[in-house]
Amino acid sequence: MSARRGGTLAAALLVLVVVSLAVNLVIAGIERGSLRRQVQADNGHAIALIARTLRDDLARVRGDAIILSRTVVAEQMLQDGGPALRQRAERLLHAMADARGDYSQLRFIDAGGREVVRVDSRARVVEVVPPEQLQDKSQRPYVHAVAKMSAGQVYISRIDLNIEHGQIVEPQEPTLRVGAPVFSGDGQRLGMVMINVDGRHLLQRFVVDAQQAHGSVWLVDAAGNWLHGPDASRDWRFAIPGARRAGMDTDFPGAWAVMRAHKQGQSRGAFGLLTFDQLAAAGTGLVQPDSAFGLRVVALAPDPTLASIMFDRAHMVGYALTLPALLLLAAWLAHLRVRLSGVEAEVAANSRLLKDIFDHSRLSMKVKDLQGRIVRANDAAGELLGRSPDQLIGQTIDAVATEATAATIGQHDREVIDSGEVTTYEEQVEYLGGNFTLLTTRFPVTDEHDRVVGVGAMSLDITSRIRMEQWLRVAKDQAEAANTAKAAFLANMSHELRTPLNSIIGISELLLEQAEEEDDDPLTVESLHRVVGAGRHLLTLINDILDISRIDAGRVELVLEPILVSTLAESALSTLQPLAVANGNRLSMVVAADPGVVAIDAVRMRQVLINLLGNAIKFTRDGEITLRLERDVDTLRIAVTDTGIGMTPEQMERIFTPFEQADRSITRRFGGSGLGLAISRQLVQLMGGWIAVESEPGRGSTFTVSIPVGAFEAPSRDPGPAAPDEPSRDSLVLVADDDEDARRLLIGALERHGLPVITACSGAEALQQVRSQRPAVMLLDILLGDMSGWDVLAALRADPLYANLPVILCTVTDPDHRTAALGVVEHMTKPVDRDQLVRLVKRFVRSGPQSNVLVVDDDDHYREQLAMVLRRAGCRVRMAANGQQALMHMEQEPPDLVLLDLVMPVMDGLEVIGAMQGHPLLAHVQVVLVTAADVPQHTVQKLNESAVMLVSKAEVGLDCIARRARDLLDRVESETRDAGTRG
Ligand code: ADP
Repeated sequence: MSARRGGTLAAALLVLVVVSLAVNLVIAGIERGSLRRQVQADNGHAIALIARTLRDDLARVRGDAIILSRTVVAEQMLQDGGPALRQRAERLLHAMADARGDYSQLRFIDAGGREVVRVDSRARVVEVVPPEQLQDKSQRPYVHAVAKMSAGQVYISRIDLNIEHGQIVEPQEPTLRVGAPVFSGDGQRLGMVMINVDGRHLLQRFVVDAQQAHGSVWLVDAAGNWLHGPDASRDWRFAIPGARRAGMDTDFPGAWAVMRAHKQGQSRGAFGLLTFDQLAAAGTGLVQPDSAFGLRVVALAPDPTLASIMFDRAHMVGYALTLPALLLLAAWLAHLRVRLSGVEAEVAANSRLLKDIFDHSRLSMKVKDLQGRIVRANDAAGELLGRSPDQLIGQTIDAVATEATAATIGQHDREVIDSGEVTTYEEQVEYLGGNFTLLTTRFPVTDEHDRVVGVGAMSLDITSRIRMEQWLRVAKDQAEAANTAKAAFLANMSHELRTPLNSIIGISELLLEQAEEEDDDPLTVESLHRVVGAGRHLLTLINDILDISRIDAGRVELVLEPILVSTLAESALSTLQPLAVANGNRLSMVVAADPGVVAIDAVRMRQVLINLLGNAIKFTRDGEITLRLERDVDTLRIAVTDTGIGMTPEQMERIFTPFEQADRSITRRFGGSGLGLAISRQLVQLMGGWIAVESEPGRGSTFTVSIPVGAFEAPSRDPGPAAPDEPSRDSLVLVADDDEDARRLLIGALERHGLPVITACSGAEALQQVRSQRPAVMLLDILLGDMSGWDVLAALRADPLYANLPVILCTVTDPDHRTAALGVVEHMTKPVDRDQLVRLVKRFVRSGPQSNVLVVDDDDHYREQLAMVLRRAGCRVRMAANGQQALMHMEQEPPDLVLLDLVMPVMDGLEVIGAMQGHPLLAHVQVVLVTAADVPQHTVQKLNESAVMLVSKAEVGLDCIARRARDLLDRVESETRDAGTRG
């Protein structure tokens, strides 16, 4: 048991003991009270008995005194008193004394106070006192008292001791005197009759009667003197002359005070319990303060004390056993009562809560019995059903619903009653309250034996929600239609705006070139310059506006493709080189950590680069512009730094907002729309990255772009047998475009650089030209009239013969994901930059025969990438996945150069080199060993001896390998040419 519970128990026991004691005390008190009442009743009874006896005795004596006083004998005797009369009187008194036995003296006393006749009685012996012994009693107080009384009155003295000659007569004779006056027939006072009553009889009777009472019974006179008291030696002291008095007043002053105030009653004190009664003079017709009627009978009983009652052993055992048991029982009952009332309160609170929920819920709630009669319904249900909840009670649903609704609901209710399961339905209902769509959950209502006795239904009114959903669906459809329309509009606009502009710019550029070549009038040249400038400016503006609205409409889709970042950067730099030169700027690129190939949207990335580099060139005069490339694990970072005019912090804050420029004078001084950076930032954000600027006025600016790039997983593709690669016409360029202006412009640009051009004005013609003429490269438009450029591309790529044909897209629209999928090598937006176009095309056409390169690597992805880079560098490339395949290809047609992986399955790089050295046709083929593994020193030495170039995949990027390969091929070519010339 825990200390806490122990403490609680001890406290409970203590309380129990205290309560038990208190109860004991109360019971003892009650018992004492009842004992007291019993003593009082017993003693009261005894005292009443004694008092009555005394009163009866006194009444008898009084009667005797009156009778004697009215006798003729008494009257005559007291008038003349002759001897005969004396005799008669003496006989009368003698007979009376004899009859009563307790009269000690009977006398006639004359009006002068002298005894006239007297008989004495002692021990029942009656003697007549001779006349010579009769005494004068005129001085006695009782004689005085009676002498004043009228006829019919009786004197009764207090009880006194018989005093003879001033001495108490021994043995003591308590005496009571009773006297009555005697009058003559004519009312003359003649004397009196006096009876002395022997008090001992009285007292003996008192003592006998008193035995019925509890304790001691005492008798005191009106003054409190002891007549029969607790100590016999102190009785009657008042009567002895000179003796010290003793009485209730001296011995029990407290009790005496009570007794004087009350005729009857009880007094409690240290002495005990005192019960007293005064002998009342009622009915005697006399009121004499100092008479026997002042006697008081006092009974003293020891007061029953609490202690004696409590420590009574029988009681104690009883209390000890029964009280705690009763208390425990009472406590248990009280506890049960408290718990019961707690449970009752909880049940009441719960049912109140349920009622509140039911009444105030916005859910319509109903309970129905098995016959479908509504037994409960809340206000919300009333609203739907079109009746107040009170009106619904006892009704079935068909009273408030259409036939069809009632049937549906009846069926759903029945399902719940039969299965005992909860169901939920969306219901279309028609009630008096209106038409609603409800979501209704039904549950079985059960009794205490789990029997289904009804069905409960809770309905949520979803009418407005359904309406809203329908409305939203319509609105969404409309919005989507509007968006589609906007997208279509944008596509049309870009086409419609760019196509004529393309012609304007292209033709005016052509005219300008001719004018310059023919040294035309400077005014014409100047005007043409303006037309070209304005056209280009307008084009940029249109492009920018279309771009920003396309981004806003969420129509920009990123096209991820594996891109050699450095090549992309180089191409951007070379595009802007002429502009930079025009402004006296030096353009350079720093590759801090070669990013290599990353999956990125090349077109968008290029757009951003061109914007940043273009701005740098535009806002810098005779300065330096540096493009810095860097890549850590998963971030590509590109920074463009210039030494131009720079910006203030406030200007930097504004420049990424559409149509904002650093300040108002910019347009005037440098042109521009203020859209470039806004577009760049949105594109970079679309790629998941950010763009930031640091700048200082007058010192230049640095724009940094950071883009997350993941590892690029190219779909692995079995290279299969290399395409027979029928040699294509080395420098022939095919231009496929349905727009004649566009065709003419492209042809003009290419032919000026001596490149032979054939054309196609439809998709079908383009395919036919490829197959019959075998061009080195194709410039392809997307909108071709009969079919799209994409279809042409798909058809080409499906044919192994032309799968590797380099295709440059030249469109007014933007490229999409198909660009990468269909192996487009470059994309140019019309109107194309003529110099850039020529530079690009020249990569794919060669004056002499194309170099024949074999790439051997078991890493599909790397092999493909390397091949792609080499093709763009103008090589004819074949591929092999291991050494054996490589040897097979080489034997079929010895290549000019082999790029060989070192570690491969089936046959590794070193084995291939060994086999080649032993082969007459292959011994002189150039080999570059491309490896990711560490090559041991002695192998390196051996390779050097065999003139094999060693390149580490980890250290050198693909484009760098391609460059080295190109250098090597050029060297071999020139050596061969030299040898030929010498030969
Ligand atoms: P545009 O160049 O067409 O005005 P941009 O959005 O490309 O629009 O550039 C917004 C503004 O940012 C420019 O007008 C110019 O004030 C400021 N800015 C951009 N790049 C540079 C830079 N390299 N040096 C100084 N200011 C620049």
